[in-house]
Amino acid sequence: MSKVLLVEDNPQNRYLLTFLLERSGYEVVTAEDGEAAIEAVPAYLPDVILMDVQLPKLDGYEATRRIKADERFARIPILALTAHSMKGDRAKALEAGCDDYITKPVDIDVLLRRIQEVVGAEPGSAMS
Ligand code: MN
Repeated sequence: MSKVLLVEDNPQNRYLLTFLLERSGYEVVTAEDGEAAIEAVPAYLPDVILMDVQLPKLDGYEATRRIKADERFARIPILALTAHSMKGDRAKALEAGCDDYITKPVDIDVLLRRIQEVVGAEPGSAMS
């Protein structure tokens, strides 16, 4: 089962995305800010990280930079979650080292497809 680290400070978004990802067969761990995200990576070793860019304490760009700067974790794909209206956020996300971005509000089908692309395998229960 692929493991997703979901970094999102908005409780409703966190709850909804966790529900949808778990229903699609992913194991999900959440972090509420950039510092918690950095701590969660070595503890959890996710297959993919979903990184909101607007976060308390440490924003998603800086958290991404720090994760990607650590050679142990540099290969973990990071998908940024960026506001639809903020085109500058996407360029900043890619500059920070994110592998791709998903615009909010998140289209769950788009999100699942991108996760499958970067993880390289479909979770078994997504078929059922
Ligand atoms: Mn946010």
